[in-house]
Amino acid sequence: MSAQAEIGVIGGSGFYSFLDDVTEITVDTPYGEPSDSLFLGELGGRRIAFLPRHGRKHHLPPHRINYRANLWALRATGVRQVLAPCAVGGLRPEYGPGTLVVPDQLVDRTKTRTQTYFDGEPLPDGSQPNVVHLTFADPYCGPGRAAALAAARGQDWEPVDGGTLCVVEGPRFSTRAESRWHARQGWSVVGMTGHPEAILARELGLCYAALALVTDLDAGAETGDGVSHEEVLKVFGENVGRLRDVLFDTVARLPVTRDCACVTALDGMDLGIELP
Ligand SMILES: [Zn+2]
Repeated sequence: MSAQAEIGVIGGSGFYSFLDDVTEITVDTPYGEPSDSLFLGELGGRRIAFLPRHGRKHHLPPHRINYRANLWALRATGVRQVLAPCAVGGLRPEYGPGTLVVPDQLVDRTKTRTQTYFDGEPLPDGSQPNVVHLTFADPYCGPGRAAALAAARGQDWEPVDGGTLCVVEGPRFSTRAESRWHARQGWSVVGMTGHPEAILARELGLCYAALALVTDLDAGAETGDGVSHEEVLKVFGENVGRLRDVLFDTVARLPVTRDCACVTALDGMDLGIELP
């Protein structure tokens, strides 16, 4: 398949619905179906593929998302750089609703998710992935993070530069004890989708950067009745416009030619399978 897109955005219709000439395509993968169709559009000369992470009807909870199919489908479409907006809870009182965090670390507290393509299971074409261990010390793309930070500042939305995204299994929110524990570790925000997206992107040699919008203070940082889903949706809705502006400006700032560690992550590895 020829490259139809170069940059992937894992996010819903709020990010692409008003673009001209959006083309919907379906992509099948050796790992099954992605969350939804891919929606291809163009922005400032860059070709983008949007993929609604939870499906266009938001019917997939975080632990049911086929992360492997999602990242594979993006790569098969030609995508090499991925931007991942997500809603998170703030683990510090100063990270209230509306805070934008561009994390530089993550902690995996998920429980049930397949987090590798190199699991020994043969693909439908008969090829067999080898055992592969990748460096993941720095889970996010440096130039991707820098582009997101510059874009936010350009929109007068001072972002939090760095910090740790703690990814929990969900779909429930944390207890107060869990949340206080996460905060005491020095972690910044908590979400449900940032893992295994980041490592699967790395395993495909893709650049990946997260833009984490705080929609609520997590249970350990607030003093009310705890997090509610309505609250999360309300704050996300209030901020989706400016998050879209930041995303699109980030797209414009992403390097046309990649020169980062993501590109060479797979160098010298015998994968056993052919990447699309
Ligand atoms: Zn990169």
